[in-house]
Amino acid sequence: MNPNHHSRRRFLQLTATGLAASPWLGPLAWAQSSLPRKAIGMPAPGRMNLPTSPPSAPSGDSLGVAVIGLGGYGINRVMPALARAHRCHVAAVVSGNPEKAGTVAAAYGLADDAIYSYDNFDAIAGDDRVEAVYVVLPSGLHADWTEKAFAAGKHVLCEKPMALTPAECERMIAAGKAANRELMIGYRCHFEPYNLRAMALMREGAVGKIQHIETHQTYRMGPTSPADNWRVVRSLAGGGPLEDYGIYGLQSALYLSGEMPTTITATTEQPAGDPRFAEIFATVRTHLEFPSGATADLLTSYDTAPGRNVADVTGSDGRLIMEPATGYSGQHMTLARNGNTETLDPGDPGVQFHRQCDHFADVIRDGVTQIAPGEMGLRDVRLIDAIYRSAASGQPVEA
Ligand code: NAD
Repeated sequence: MNPNHHSRRRFLQLTATGLAASPWLGPLAWAQSSLPRKAIGMPAPGRMNLPTSPPSAPSGDSLGVAVIGLGGYGINRVMPALARAHRCHVAAVVSGNPEKAGTVAAAYGLADDAIYSYDNFDAIAGDDRVEAVYVVLPSGLHADWTEKAFAAGKHVLCEKPMALTPAECERMIAAGKAANRELMIGYRCHFEPYNLRAMALMREGAVGKIQHIETHQTYRMGPTSPADNWRVVRSLAGGGPLEDYGIYGLQSALYLSGEMPTTITATTEQPAGDPRFAEIFATVRTHLEFPSGATADLLTSYDTAPGRNVADVTGSDGRLIMEPATGYSGQHMTLARNGNTETLDPGDPGVQFHRQCDHFADVIRDGVTQIAPGEMGLRDVRLIDAIYRSAASGQPVEA
């Protein structure tokens, strides 16, 4: 039987129960005990980076933002970034865990009535302190909660990946347009000095004609299962490492080459008998061909040790190596050309988080052109869809 026939039938079953990601992800060994595809309260992350005293009161035209999803990234990166931003502040939290929400809200000096649950979220519509919602939920929940935020009249900054299917992304964009509100995707590397410098260098032709780009986004995930980790649940994470981590390599290949691929060839690996990979892929390999003749090879995996985070551009006249390329900190970048290798240090990667928030406020307040709009998120999710289509069919796919 054609394997796609099987996955297609399974997809239709899952669509009926609202559990589908993409039809191209292949047969699903679906564990009954997987975390559900709905917003639920979860324990506080092991380490919480909370302010020792509440941030000072917002001033000027600072944008009030509600953070929905108090997990590792929400508490430890998004909320500190909003507190550090010049034009944004944390105005509310939305969580299914009242105790965690209370602790976090107190640390940010929020009033009790600025704590929302998933059940009373709709009431946020009447809260003038909140002009925008930052969606930091598991990826399979981005579309629904972005739509709810637009229905409440708020602007939305949504984490990557934008959603799990192109159809979900299209729905989100349409909802934003209908509400006349902004939709931005949390592509922080567009605000990070090393990646910005790399983009500028490539535009200037610093390595000559780009011939090949190689990216790695890999690490070995510790023991876990779909019962306790959304990152290994198909309906919340899609195919897995590509949407979560490999998306940085995909983005790098696009913004460093300055091109969109014409042809995509990909393979996936899903080792049997490993609870981490009962529902998702362990590894995704992608080959891109660009109109200029340049190519890219992207490797992403949850089962590689030691993990790597690399963007490596080879051109006719030089080579740019970034390793780590897209981290929160510690970026390292060298440019080899004309017989010299230069180490470049364009600035502190730590600014990426709050600059992203300030850009969002500039878009809303001043009508500045968006750097990472919903359309960019949709573009990438379409490419991810094409990657899985190629892997499922064993054939190259026109992008
Ligand atoms: P996490 O597991 O640490 O937190 C997710 C939170 O979502 C949970 O704590 C819980 O509060 C809430 N939640 C609601 N419903 C849930 C459900 N059914 N299952 C599990 N949790 C549920 O995850 P995270 O690392 O904070 O990731 C959240 C989002 O942020 C994801 O979309 C991820 O891709 C994105 N992210 C982005 C970056 C980046 O660098 N831009 C880094 C990490 C995560």
